[in-house]
Amino acid sequence: MAEAPAAGDLYSLLASVFGFSSFRPGQERIVRALLDGRDVFALMPTGGGKSLCYQLPALLVDGVAVVVSPLIALMKDQVDGLRELGVPATYINSSLTGNEIQERQRALLAGQVKLVYVAPERLMMPAFLRLLSAARISFFAIDEAHCISEWGHDFRPEYRELRRLRELFPSVPFAAFTATATTRVQGDITQQLALRDPVRFQGSFNRANLHYEVQPRRRVDDHVVAYLRAHPQASGIIYCASRAGTEDLARHLNLEGIKALPYHAGLDSEVRRRNQDAFIKDDVRVVAATIAFGMGINKPDVRFVIHYDLPKTLENYYQESGRAGRDGDPSDCILFYSGGDAAKLRRFAEEKDTEEERRIARWQVEQMAAWAESTTCRRQALLAYFDEAFAGQADRCCDICDVPGIEEDVTVEAQKLLSCVVRTRERFGLAHVIAVLRGSQSEKVLKFGHDKLSTHGIGRDRIDDFWRHLGRHLLGMGALRQDSDRYNVLSVTESGRAILFGGRRVTMRVPPVKRAETAPADESVANPELFERLRALRKRLADERNLPPYVIFHDRVLREMSSRLPYDSHALQAIPGIGGAKVKSYGEMFLAEIRQYRLETGTAPAETEPLGSARPRGLSRTARDSALLFSRGHDIAKIAQMRNLTPRTVYGHLAEAIEAGEEIDLSRLVLPARRARIEAVLHDEGYDMLAPVRERLGEDFSYGEISLIRAYLIARERGRASA
Ligand code: ADP
Ligand code: MG
Repeated sequence: MAEAPAAGDLYSLLASVFGFSSFRPGQERIVRALLDGRDVFALMPTGGGKSLCYQLPALLVDGVAVVVSPLIALMKDQVDGLRELGVPATYINSSLTGNEIQERQRALLAGQVKLVYVAPERLMMPAFLRLLSAARISFFAIDEAHCISEWGHDFRPEYRELRRLRELFPSVPFAAFTATATTRVQGDITQQLALRDPVRFQGSFNRANLHYEVQPRRRVDDHVVAYLRAHPQASGIIYCASRAGTEDLARHLNLEGIKALPYHAGLDSEVRRRNQDAFIKDDVRVVAATIAFGMGINKPDVRFVIHYDLPKTLENYYQESGRAGRDGDPSDCILFYSGGDAAKLRRFAEEKDTEEERRIARWQVEQMAAWAESTTCRRQALLAYFDEAFAGQADRCCDICDVPGIEEDVTVEAQKLLSCVVRTRERFGLAHVIAVLRGSQSEKVLKFGHDKLSTHGIGRDRIDDFWRHLGRHLLGMGALRQDSDRYNVLSVTESGRAILFGGRRVTMRVPPVKRAETAPADESVANPELFERLRALRKRLADERNLPPYVIFHDRVLREMSSRLPYDSHALQAIPGIGGAKVKSYGEMFLAEIRQYRLETGTAPAETEPLGSARPRGLSRTARDSALLFSRGHDIAKIAQMRNLTPRTVYGHLAEAIEAGEEIDLSRLVLPARRARIEAVLHDEGYDMLAPVRERLGEDFSYGEISLIRAYLIARERGRASA
C-alpha cells in the first residue's frame, strides 16, 4: 500500500492534474479510504464527481486500477479525457482489434497504465482474469454499481457475475459507485459485492443547479421551439414516449431551423452511434429520444432535459432529468404534463400480470402524477421521495418557488366547480366541466343541453388556466375523484361535499400568468463575442483530434477565460478547471485568440468576482411578493396592511423591483407632474444621497416616491427599464 500522502500532496495533484481547486463533498474522504486500502460504497448524485474518487487515488497507489463500467461507448471518452490530462489510462473492449488488445495488455502487465476500463463481460472472461492475476491491481472501481441489482432502474445481468471477483481477488479493495437512490438497491449492492465494512459516503440527492418546472401539456411544440430559440447555445435532450414521437419531433425541429436528431432502440446501431456522437461533439444540439438514450450520456454540458411525456416513475424522472447539468452549471428540467398522460399510465398499470405488479405500478403512477400536480416545492417533493428532508433553496429552485406563495381564498370558485360537476351528473372530465363553467356554446355542450344548466357561464370571470389549476388542486386535496377507467370522469367526494354544503373553506396558491419563456439557463457571459470565438476554437481543435469539445475545456472554463482575459499561461492556469497538461496542449492557442480579441476591441478584463458569486443578483422574495400584490391592483397602504409591514418597507420593495427590471406601473404611484420634478432634481443632485434631493423638492414629496423614481432612472440607464 502507498504511504498516506500529506494533505498538501492530494491538493496539489488535484490542482496540477485535474485543475480543480477543491474537492466536492465526499471526494476527499473516498480518495483517502482507497489510499488506506479500504472498501468504499459511495452514493453520489449524477454530476457529483464520482470519477475523480477513483481516478485520483489510482495515480498514487501501486499497480493498475480496474474500472468496471457498463458502456463500451463511454470508455473511449473517459480514457481520452484522462489522456488529455496526462494520465496513463487505457480501455480494453470489443471495439479494438486483436493487435490493439494485445498491445494494451502488454502495457498493463508492464505496469505502464494506472487505470484500465473494462466492461463486466470482458472482465469475467477466463483469459482476462488470468491476465489480471498476473498484473498488480491497486483496486477495483465498480461504476454504476446499481446495474447489479434487479431492483435498480438499469439492471444488467452481466453485472451479476461480478460477485465472483471478490473470491478471486480477496485482498484487493473494492469501491462501488452509484447515483441510485433507493434503499433497496443500496442493500443489494453491498451484499452482492460482499463489501467489507466499506467506508460509506452518501451525498445529498439534491441537484442544486437544476431548475424544475412542469407545464401544461398544450401546444408543446410551440413552447419547446420558443424555449430553444431563447437558448440558442444550449444543448439538451427531449424525451418522448414513443419511437415515432422522437422522429416526428426531430423532423419538426429541423423544419424550425433547430438542428436535432432522433434516438431510439429501433434505429440501426450505426445510426444510433452516429446520432449520439453528433450530440456529444456539439454538431447537433438537440436529441429527441426515448429512454434508450440514457446512461451513455456523460456529456457534462447538457443544459436542459425536457419530457414531452410523463415518465413511469418518479425515480425514472429523477434519473432522466438528472442528465442535465453534470458540470454544475444552471440547467433546466421541464416536464409537460396532462391528466390524460397519467390516465394512460394507470391503464398500463392495470395491464400488468400479477396483482403485486399492478399494486406497485399503481403506486408509482400516483406518485408521479402527484408530483406533477403538486402545488408545493418540486425539489422538496422529489427529495422526499428519496426520504431526504430538504429545507429549501432560495435561487433557481422550481416553478412553484419562483412565484411567491400567495394563498387566495377560492371557496366560492371551488363551489362553482364542484356544483358544475354535480349538475353534469358526474359523467364528464375536467375539460368539459370547464367549458360549461366558462359558458361555452360548443357542440358537445349543446348536445347534452348543458347550456341550460344553472352553472353554465358562472365561471366566465376566470381564465381556463385558473379553472384547470383549481380542478387539479381539488383533486390533490381529495375533494374530487378522477376515474381513470372511464375517460377521467370527475366525481365529488365526501370532502368535496363538505365544501359545497358544509361551509368548508378552500385556499390555493394562485399561479400568475406564466411568462412566455422560462428563466434562462445560460449564465451571462462577460464578453459574449469572445466566448463564441473560444467555443469555435475549441470545436475546431476537438474535431481535429476527434474528441468531444468538453474534453478540451468545459463551457465554464471558456466563460472564465472570456471574463478574466488571461494574458499568459500563469494567469490561464489560475482558472479552475485548467490543469498543467491542458495549458501545455492548448494554452497558447487560447491565449492567442484572447490576445487577438483584446487587440481588436480594446477590452479590459472584467473585475473578477470570487467564484460562485457570479450570478446576477435577483430580486428578493419578499420584494417580489409586494410587487406581485401591486400588480394585482393593491395600493401601497393595502399591501403594507396585508403583509404587516410599514408602507416605507413596501416602497423599498417596489423600488427594488423596478431596479431589477420588473414591470411596475409607475403611473399608479407617482403623478406625471411630480415625477418630472423629481427626475429633474435627481438629475442635478445625482443618485447617491436622497436627503439633498428631498430638501430641494420640499416636504410635500416623500422619500418613498423619490426612491421609486431613482430606481426607475437607474434601471433605465442600465437599459432594462420596462416602463
Ligand atoms: P458522476 O460520475 O458522479 O456523474 P463525473 O465524475 O462525471 O460525475 O463528474 C461530473 C463533473 O464534475 C465533471 O465534469 C468533472 O470534471 C467535475 N468535477 C469532478 N470533481 C470536481 C471538483 N473537485 N471540482 C470541480 N469539478 C469537479
Ligand atoms: Mg459517472
